[in-house]
Amino acid sequence: MNLERNVCLAPHTSLRVGGVADWFLLARSAQEVAKGLRWAADHGVDVRTIGGGSNLLVADDGVEGLVIKTGFAQTAVEDRGGVPVLVAEAGANLANVARRLAKQDLGGLEWAANVPGTVGGAAVNNAGAFGGDTASCLVALTLVDAHGQRTRLATDALHYAYRTSVLKRRELGDVAVETVELRLEPTVAGAADARVREFNAQRMRSQPRILSAGSVFANPPGTFSGKLIDEAGLKGASSGGAQISEQHANFIVNPGGASARDVYALMRRAQDVVFERTAVWLHAEIELLGRWTLKERAALAAPLVAAHE
Ligand SMILES: Cc1cc2nc3c(=O)[nH]c(=O)nc-3n(C[C@H](O)[C@H](O)[C@H](O)COP(=O)(O)OP(=O)(O)OC[C@H]3O[C@@H](n4cnc5c(N)ncnc54)[C@H](O)[C@@H]3O)c2cc1C
Repeated sequence: MNLERNVCLAPHTSLRVGGVADWFLLARSAQEVAKGLRWAADHGVDVRTIGGGSNLLVADDGVEGLVIKTGFAQTAVEDRGGVPVLVAEAGANLANVARRLAKQDLGGLEWAANVPGTVGGAAVNNAGAFGGDTASCLVALTLVDAHGQRTRLATDALHYAYRTSVLKRRELGDVAVETVELRLEPTVAGAADARVREFNAQRMRSQPRILSAGSVFANPPGTFSGKLIDEAGLKGASSGGAQISEQHANFIVNPGGASARDVYALMRRAQDVVFERTAVWLHAEIELLGRWTLKERAALAAPLVAAHE
């Protein structure tokens, strides 16, 4: 196990911001993840497993304890009684796998062909797009714990909802996703690939191609966060090196030189301005990781706390 000390996490995130992890492990297998989890338990330090870091806002002050990154990414398609099922290790790149399968006329994951990050992260977050999501494709996933024990859970046990799961809420403790099984659908020649191309084109039109962590806020019921932020006149607003995208107001981009604090400041500004105008509180979809203060976390979570800051 190659534990590293004081590793900067910015290069391990899609926003390219954030400070150092006290300890870092690039795990090449589930056994290495288990060893890392065990090491953290034995040393009484916090531990967090990450994938592509494409949904994270890592604090500039870094992350206490151990961060394990999943670097194992084998994939296979199994025939289960006529149903093709993708069995992917947690670190597999979801978009790459989805695109490759579509070219082989295996559909079901076309929605994912542009969702950055890993299969493990998608299973935790219930990533989704274009009407599809991980929960609706998932057959089961296998978790590994600090003792190297494996547990296979079917979809029901994960209590999926919009962009969340029991894993996202960390209700199962310090466990990591080892493998994910996703149901595929054979399609007529070229159909899955055509859908991937169509979704690509839609993304190109609507989303910025600058460093970001995707949608910053979850959509409130019946409306879109991007629309509310746009109507509040915040497109293009900036804080330090971070900017609310001109192209899509629910994206905060890092054209270069942004800090995590800059991104956070823009998130808070968007929340306050939108709340003032509409009484709708925007809830963060991206996840704060690391040394954020309780006050910072609370201010992001709810308007009442924010009003009494
Ligand atoms: C340009 C852009 C576009 C995006 N578009 C979409 C979109 O359309 N739909 C969408 O849903 N998301 C979107 N996102 C967000 C992101 O792609 C998804 O949330 C993705 O599923 C995160 O995967 P990840 O591997 O990067 O996870 P990370 O960001 O690394 O982690 C996310 C969470 O999962 C946990 N985690 C990760 N791997 C494991 C593991 N093996 N075991 C246990 N816990 C783990 C982490 O601790 C964290 O809580 C977008 C992001 C970007 C940058």
